[in-house]
Amino acid sequence: MSKVHVDFGLCESNAVCMGIIPEVFDLDDQDYLHILQEDVTPENEAQIREAVRQCPRQAISIDDE
Ligand code: SF4
Repeated sequence: MSKVHVDFGLCESNAVCMGIIPEVFDLDDQDYLHILQEDVTPENEAQIREAVRQCPRQAISIDDE
């Protein structure tokens, strides 16, 4: 199953991804991004791909296994 990957060295914690799909991406009180659900499913794939497109740092990728 494909998984969401975030390059935390690139991420600038601007919460764009969380705004698109908060079930997958969550910023905590310290501005650390957490991946709540790393599996790419038929239900979340379209929104995850939108987050990949919209992340201004291009920090999000989908790893195909
Ligand atoms: S949209 Fe990109 S830069 Fe912004 S919080 Fe998400 S992963 Fe980080």
